[in-house]
Amino acid sequence: MRVSKLFTKTSKSAPADEVAKNAQLLIRAGYVHKEMAGVYSYLPLGLRVLNNIAQIVREEMDAIGGQELLMPALQVKERYEATGRWDDAVVDNWFKTKLANGAELGLGFSHEENLVPIIKQLATSYKDLPIAPYQIQTKFRNELRSKSGLMRGREFIMKDMYSFAITQAQHDEFYALVQAAYKRVYERLGLGERTVMALASGGSFSKYSHEFQTFSEAGEDLLFKTTDGVWHNREIAPSQISKPNESEALAEYKDVEGEGVVGVQALLEHLQITIEKSTKTLIYTTDAGEAIMAAVRSDYDVNELKLCEAVGCKTVSLASAETVREKTGAEIGYAGIVNVPEGVRIFLDDSLKGLCNFETGANKTHYHAVNVNFGRDIKAPERFYDFKTAREGDLDPASGEPMEVRKAIEVGNIFSLGTKFSQPFDLRVPDEHGEVITLIMGCYGIGVSRAMGTIAELMSDDKGLVWHDNIAPYRVYLARLGSDEVVVRAADELYASLQEAGVSVLYDDRDARPGDKFADADLLGLPHRVVVSAKTVEQGVFEYKKRTEQESAMVETEKLKDLLTAQK
Ligand code: ATP
Ligand code: MG
Repeated sequence: MRVSKLFTKTSKSAPADEVAKNAQLLIRAGYVHKEMAGVYSYLPLGLRVLNNIAQIVREEMDAIGGQELLMPALQVKERYEATGRWDDAVVDNWFKTKLANGAELGLGFSHEENLVPIIKQLATSYKDLPIAPYQIQTKFRNELRSKSGLMRGREFIMKDMYSFAITQAQHDEFYALVQAAYKRVYERLGLGERTVMALASGGSFSKYSHEFQTFSEAGEDLLFKTTDGVWHNREIAPSQISKPNESEALAEYKDVEGEGVVGVQALLEHLQITIEKSTKTLIYTTDAGEAIMAAVRSDYDVNELKLCEAVGCKTVSLASAETVREKTGAEIGYAGIVNVPEGVRIFLDDSLKGLCNFETGANKTHYHAVNVNFGRDIKAPERFYDFKTAREGDLDPASGEPMEVRKAIEVGNIFSLGTKFSQPFDLRVPDEHGEVITLIMGCYGIGVSRAMGTIAELMSDDKGLVWHDNIAPYRVYLARLGSDEVVVRAADELYASLQEAGVSVLYDDRDARPGDKFADADLLGLPHRVVVSAKTVEQGVFEYKKRTEQESAMVETEKLKDLLTAQK
């Protein structure tokens, strides 16, 4: 491609409203165009990168038996009603639209409901299994915040694969193959060294799912590494307070009035206590309809996923004001673990273990209890649980050692779905004994456009993007300096011969100043730069430099070709 023909241009600045480094660089280099927050056009260079990433993903999915298909963006409402996912309270990021006749449709945020009915028609025997269709498609998600450039799109490209197996063993075997394939994908994308597999919540059918997380300060996720070397997403990370609560002489229990004191900070000032002496109690309703109390030290938050595990339920949601009144006998804001009416189960986080002379709501409107102690004011609990959200500095409860904490970008995610989707569609197939079995499913996502954003974010320097060979839009930036006939001829010839040798080249044939060409070469980030000038022609060499290196070298034609063809 000749730069003189390329319709995109580089620019010195990105739109003022673009805060993400990846998008700023990609916009400035002319790879993408911003339409609105979370929505980008992929311009020719950007599309080449996106396609290169997609191709690596495609090759690795094909290698484990994946079969590519393409499903529509428009989604049928009734299918989602069958699985309970049409409801905005269940899926909060739907984009919905309507047919001309008024019938409602959705724009696909995921495609289980689309694929399961297809497989139901086509898979009729255990001999058809396992199967793993996948697609590389645009997904639509009405993300609340979309400030991370390509890393959190409202319209973005995802590879999603779905597996169908007739036995758990068959499912597990394929799941392991996907884990290995994902590892290869991230290695080929150049993210291997910074990407780890982490445990995340597994939903109703398995304890954990697995996320592929790339370490980055720009990441939206926080990972905790336990002493056994396993990374955990914060949503499920275990935690123990770093300093045990200290015992002290018991002080006199008091109910203190606090009408109009709103918020933790104000309360601490009002009561003249530290946050470590304060606790908060939340009333939740479980999926079984039971109202329970959960208390943590006020410097922590309740992690609802971990709380579910402690309670032994599937979901919890904050109780209504009415339930709070009924269960505590007080208005919202005064719930606590003293004077709890009979019959309400109380769950205590282990941040309360050993806590002396602490504060809790008095279960009396406008009152807080202070100098509360276990064994005196409240029955000592049989056990404490760990349902707090882990914080930096917390210990691994299993070892008592501090946990390493890293920010990361979720670049992929694999999930065992059990029969969550096959059951509502009655996707059943006879096994070898003639017994009809509900199929076991898995789903496997890779954020293709997020990977592009991640690479741009991480592999760049103060001059611009730094692509590596596998995904660069072109491998070589050929800069011609000057327009003397001999220089033009030498550059044209090199351009033609590199292409003939299968090396993709972006040929800067413009009559621009060398400094501008070099600045563009750096901003565009192609892995190799070759300069042809009067000086190089005179010496019968080319000037060669890698994007990742500072120094250039003079090399002869054969050596240059070796350098450029050897590295693919
Ligand atoms: P996240 O936790 O980041 O919101 P998710 O867990 O909802 O993502 P999945 O539904 O499992 O993600 O999607 C599979 C993959 O698609 C993710 O691992 C991620 O790489 C990518 N992805 C998800 N949401 C977005 C988005 N809004 N923009 C770009 N990529 C995304
Ligand atoms: Mg996620």
